Amino acid sequence: MFHQAVWDEKLIIEMKGKRSLRLPYEDRDYNVEIPDILKRSELNLNDNEEHEVLRHYVRLSQMNYGVDLNTYPLGSCTMKFNPKLSEEIVSMDQVRYIHPYQDQSTVQGALQIMYELQEYLKVIGGMDAVTLQPVAGADGEFTGLLLVRAYHENRKDYKRREIIVPDSAHGTNPASSTMAGFTTIEIPSDKNGLVDLNALKEALSEKTAAFMITNPNTLGIFDENILEIARLVHEKGALLYYDGANLNGIMGITTPGKMGFDIVHFNLHKTFATPHGGGGPGAGPVGVKRHLEDFLPVPVVRYDGKYYYLDYNVKNTIGKVAGFYGNFAVLVRAWAYIKLQGGNGLRKVTERAVLNTNYIRKKLQGHYDLPYKELRKHEVVFSGSNLKKYGVRTLDVAKRMLDYGVHAPTIYFPLIVEEALMIEPTETESKENMDHLADIMIKIAQEAEKDPELLKTAPHNTAVKRIDEVEAARNPVLTWKMIK
Ligand SMILES: *Cc1c(COP(=O)(O)O)cnc(C)c1O
Repeated sequence: MFHQAVWDEKLIIEMKGKRSLRLPYEDRDYNVEIPDILKRSELNLNDNEEHEVLRHYVRLSQMNYGVDLNTYPLGSCTMKFNPKLSEEIVSMDQVRYIHPYQDQSTVQGALQIMYELQEYLKVIGGMDAVTLQPVAGADGEFTGLLLVRAYHENRKDYKRREIIVPDSAHGTNPASSTMAGFTTIEIPSDKNGLVDLNALKEALSEKTAAFMITNPNTLGIFDENILEIARLVHEKGALLYYDGANLNGIMGITTPGKMGFDIVHFNLHKTFATPHGGGGPGAGPVGVKRHLEDFLPVPVVRYDGKYYYLDYNVKNTIGKVAGFYGNFAVLVRAWAYIKLQGGNGLRKVTERAVLNTNYIRKKLQGHYDLPYKELRKHEVVFSGSNLKKYGVRTLDVAKRMLDYGVHAPTIYFPLIVEEALMIEPTETESKENMDHLADIMIKIAQEAEKDPELLKTAPHNTAVKRIDEVEAARNPVLTWKMIK
């Protein structure tokens, strides 16, 4: 409505004396007969001028927080700056306007992008084949576990109905396991936060279908026993599943394939560029080793040296797991991001993410409890339990951070850390930003001691004050209308 156009003065809408909305002139007959039943006698429009309307919307946009505004330290999510080039590419007509029903000969470029992405992910994951279909990490987990099921059933090994997960696992892991029809067995972590080998040995049996872990784990610690873990799991005839949400901690340096994993899902919206605030959009491609290739969902994108095509002819396919070919625009962003970085670039991404994490780990040590002392990879989990003596909880720290104009870290996850505060700086934050974040958190720890009430009633400077989360969960108001 603010774009340049030829204005027809007659079409300027006058609102109680103030001019706000101007409609562009078009050579069209506006004298359309509107049935009375559709007409309102009075328009209850606000009495604002154009610049007032603009200010209103700009102000609304500033009530929100995003990666383009400031540091976004949420852990386990890899919330990074997302190159605007990827956004430009997905906005191109060639990407926006293609249709899944188009003939394959007319979408060779799109298929080439998908094929190349499959190839890149094979290398990054150390896998032999990839499906791009799943539309989220959790969907990748579900798909991967259906592959596990198909694999064992194909071998007539029907008793393998159990999936083992460590207690540090993301909630989607046991949920996917249940969705795929398995029973989930949880094992405790050892005192270093790693897989407890004895607990694993005890849990493994001829009923185990797979062990599902992420490495580095949700504490950000790399499990150095991974080769031994792989040996134990395979020795029992089970498969090893890699939750790839933490790939930002190893990418370009090692691969899940080298660690002995059979299946891996990639969270393209975490590691490879798609902005994913508010729960979407995403893509969770799954990579597998050779022995699982015949079970992949269809279609798989293939190339015969001249022509890219969709292959529906996969021997023991589990079928389709998403409409058409997956979340295409997310795939394109990931492809562009990988091309932009190159192999060395991806390695640098990891190195810098790890450096940032350990920098903030050192800076905050002494101000917040730090369970588990090891070096971290992509993220670090502190504990706010040292503030409990002032009556302050991690939630209060998180709310107070909003007053200083930064987003809070992930809180209360993983469950094995009391009063958890999980920070993932990613590769994109500068030293200045890391210092800024650390200074704020240190200041808040001092405030907790001097003026705990200030934290407990925070945030004070935001558009929305502290909400009653229990009330919101128990009695959700699922309408935009005001309810008295
Ligand atoms: C985010 C995440 C998942 C789930 O991925 P979604 O894309 O959100 O479905 C699984 N595991 C870990 C460790 C994660 O951080």
